[in-house]
Amino acid sequence: MCICRGCGEENLEMVLDLGIQPWGNHFIPISEGGDIPKYPLQFFVCKSCWLAQIGYTIPKEIMFVNHGYVSGTTQSLREHFKEIANDIVGKIDFRSDDYVLDIGGNDGTFLLEVKKHDVEVLNVDSGLLQAKRSEEAGVPCLNEFFNLKSAKCILQDRGKARIIHGSGILFHLEELHSVLDGIKSILDDDGYLVAEFIYLPKMLEQCAYDQIYHEHLVYYTLHSFGRLLMKYGLKLVDAHIDSIHGGSCIAWITHVEANETQSVSLNELMKNEILLQVDNMEIYRKFSERVSQLKDDLNNMIDKIRLEGKTIQALGAPVKGSTIINYCNLDSDRIDCAVEINELKVGSYIPGTSIPVKLQDTTAPPDVYLLLAWNFTEEIMLKLENFRKLGGQVLVPIPSPVLI
Ligand SMILES: [Zn+2]
Repeated sequence: MCICRGCGEENLEMVLDLGIQPWGNHFIPISEGGDIPKYPLQFFVCKSCWLAQIGYTIPKEIMFVNHGYVSGTTQSLREHFKEIANDIVGKIDFRSDDYVLDIGGNDGTFLLEVKKHDVEVLNVDSGLLQAKRSEEAGVPCLNEFFNLKSAKCILQDRGKARIIHGSGILFHLEELHSVLDGIKSILDDDGYLVAEFIYLPKMLEQCAYDQIYHEHLVYYTLHSFGRLLMKYGLKLVDAHIDSIHGGSCIAWITHVEANETQSVSLNELMKNEILLQVDNMEIYRKFSERVSQLKDDLNNMIDKIRLEGKTIQALGAPVKGSTIINYCNLDSDRIDCAVEINELKVGSYIPGTSIPVKLQDTTAPPDVYLLLAWNFTEEIMLKLENFRKLGGQVLVPIPSPVLI
C-alpha cells in the first residue's frame, strides 16, 4: 500500500493502471540496443486530501540531471514566458535589492525576460546542460535541486526572494515537502510564488491521460493544491487557465498572514471545481473508463488503416507520446517509425518499443501520421497542408481518436 505524497495517509485508490512503462524520455541509440528498465505507471487519488498522483517514483537524479530538454528552443514557450514576466513586472513594484528566483528555470529563458526590466534574478536548476546554458545567457544559476537545504544557502547569500517562479515544476517534486518548506522560508513577507502546473480538471475534461508519465508525480486541482499549501502557511490568491500545454493553471500564492483576498478568477475556478465534484471519486473513475475506451478505439482505427494497406508513422516523439504508445501496445508491426525534427532523438527507439525515430526531412511521408503532440494540432495542421493536399491523413488520438 502506498502513502499519499500530500497528506501521508494510506488512503489511496488506484484509478487507472497504465501498465509497466519505461521512463518516457529514455531515448538510447539503436546501436546500443538492449532492454531499458520499466516501472509501474499507476494513477491514484487520495481519499483523504484528494491529491491525484502516481505511485512509483523514478529517482530525480535519473530524470533531471542529464537531460536534453531546453525550454528556449520552443517559440511558443518563449512568448509565453515573456507574457508572464511582463505580468509580474506590471503587478510588482520592485525594490532595488529585490530579486526573482526561478525554481527549475532550465536554460534561463524566463529569467532573461525578467532581466530586461532591470530586476535581479537567480535560477536554480539541477540539469547540467541547462545550468551551463543559463550561465552562458547571463542568468546566474545554482546547479542543484531546490529544497529546504539549498533554500537556506540562498537565504544566507541573497536574502528573501520577492518573487519565486516555478513553471512546470511543482508537480515533478520527489521532495515535495522539503521544496514547499524551502519556498515558505525564502519567500519575502510581501512576496509571491507564481506557479504554473498541469490543471487536473482540464486534463480530465480532455481525457489527456498522456500527461501521466513518470516525471509527473502529482496532479493538482486548486482545492487539493490549496490544501497542501495551507500546511506550509501559504495560500492561493489568484489563478487563471492558460491554453499552453493543452491547459495549464497559473496561480499566485502568498503567506497566509498577508492581508489579501481571493481574486474573482480564482473564486470562479474554485466554484467550478465544486460543481465538477473534484473531491469525489466518481469523476476519476469515469476518466478511467474513458481512457480504456480510448485505447480500444485507437487500436481499432489503427488496425483498420493497416488492413487497407496504408502506412502509419508517429509524428514526433514527445515524452507523452510514449505513454500512449506503451499503454496501447503499439509497436513497429503497426507503426513504421516516428519522425522528429529534434536530432537528439533521431537514431533511437521510442522508449519501450522497437519503433525507430527518424529524421522527418529525410523520411518519405506515410499515408497516415499519428499525431502525438495533439495539443499543437492547429499549428501542426498548417505545416502539413501539402501532405494533406496530396491525400495524406492525420490520426489525432486525444480527446477521442479521429482521422482528419
Ligand atoms: Zn492525501
